Amino acid sequence: MSAVLSPPHQGVAEYVDQVMQIVKAKNPAEPEFHQAVFEVLDCLKPALERHPEFQKEKILERITEPERVLMFRVPWFDDKGSPQVNRGFRIEMNSAIGPYKGGLRLHPSVNLGILKFLAFEQVFKNSLTTLPMGGGKGGSDFDPKGKSDNEVMRFCQSFMSELQRHIGPDTDIPAGDIGVGGREIGYLFGQYKRLRNEFSGVLTGKAMDMGGSLIRPEATGYGSVYFAVEMLKTRGDTLEGKECIISGSGNVSQYTVEKLLDFGAKPVTLSDSDGFIYDPDGIDREKLAWVMDLKNNRRGRIKEYAVKFKKAMFTPVDKNLDYNPLWSVPAFCAFPSATQNEINAKDAANMLKHGVKLVSEGANMPSSLEAIKQFVDAKIMYGPAKAANAGGVATSGLEMSQNSMRLTWSREEVDERLHNIIIAIHKNCYETAAEYGQPGNLVLGANIAGFLKVANAMLEQGLV
Ligand code: NDP
Repeated sequence: MSAVLSPPHQGVAEYVDQVMQIVKAKNPAEPEFHQAVFEVLDCLKPALERHPEFQKEKILERITEPERVLMFRVPWFDDKGSPQVNRGFRIEMNSAIGPYKGGLRLHPSVNLGILKFLAFEQVFKNSLTTLPMGGGKGGSDFDPKGKSDNEVMRFCQSFMSELQRHIGPDTDIPAGDIGVGGREIGYLFGQYKRLRNEFSGVLTGKAMDMGGSLIRPEATGYGSVYFAVEMLKTRGDTLEGKECIISGSGNVSQYTVEKLLDFGAKPVTLSDSDGFIYDPDGIDREKLAWVMDLKNNRRGRIKEYAVKFKKAMFTPVDKNLDYNPLWSVPAFCAFPSATQNEINAKDAANMLKHGVKLVSEGANMPSSLEAIKQFVDAKIMYGPAKAANAGGVATSGLEMSQNSMRLTWSREEVDERLHNIIIAIHKNCYETAAEYGQPGNLVLGANIAGFLKVANAMLEQGLV
């Protein structure tokens, strides 16, 4: 009964605690979702103190409950003619400020809890972009690794055969994420068009010849570097000559390296799920072009880098270690760009010990709660994912605008808009943190700023 009849003058800390208990009870066995919700709710306390109407109208209870969850069977034939079955998902989390928007992830680890955490994060991230986009996320436990192009196509067509009922250019606009790049978006778009007999901007991350936007593939990595530049500016510093450690070697990592080189920094690591490479000479443009071909065309493994470039070292993943040695490589900046919870408390301690003064999160929720606490307590420049990697979805928003207007902006125009959006996001987070009494704490700033816009729109729209 107490959850239903929560006392009107209950303190904010107790209210947050109570909502957290409800979230855990209603969403058992979803630790990543609990983690993402806790991180946001814990930061919102000063905003809830200032705005008692949010508690009165049960905004936290409402914002943590997805508007709609779709879960469906995805049957497809492999190349041997054997039937295969995967599970497909789409979480339509919140549409208070715009149609649902968020990527599709294809990875064997995908489950309901992981997609709910991603969809929840997406709500606040999209709010920060300044564009009118609600939050969603989807995907499947299908593993594209080792599959032929035809197998990937048959999977994508089957997945879209169900998803097409629920999405649309004014309803829900998916995009890429882990395991979903240009090839997958092409297959998904083709099947949507065929089933709906409509050529529209229903997906973003499309190739240029089907309504894509210039700079979209680059946007998340570029944005994460632009965010780092903004953080450095507040301390009168630049990226010039700084050693940078980067995890992952996919879309986000590749364009992070490219933009770091533009700013004169020295990227020295990349990784995949088998291990990481460290190149003491730095990853230059020529080596990056080789990595892009390896990953995007030949679909090879990062350990091949150390065979090709002799001074580089490859360190394989050691499952017996309770930390990732990548995060012990001495550097000034870190760009985690692979996956969630890739930095634990021990990794964070190693980073601080080895000189890291700036973390800009390309991946979603790459740092555990304990790791974040260490970064915040150490007062290093810490750019949380929902702010630092918002460049990807922001540019997806720009792709939607171009599709609606049926025109294409130049590379320079999209890049300039992306850059200005990142500058605005950083400013908003920075000023909000100061306004709520914790200057420099961009986690608090991002969570409060992202939340306020969505929560106010929810209040204005009544109990829906
Ligand atoms: P890609 O699939 O292009 O690349 C993912 C990279 O991370 C690969 O190198 C992959 O290695 C590695 N990786 C994935 N899962 C794991 C794991 N469990 N353990 C170790 N390494 C892993 O994905 P993206 O670059 O698009 O996405 C990377 C991160 O950025 C994700 O957290 C995503 O949510 C986030 N992001 C992406 C955006 C985008 O626009 N693409 C936008 C905003 C956030 P392997 O090949 O061995 O699996």
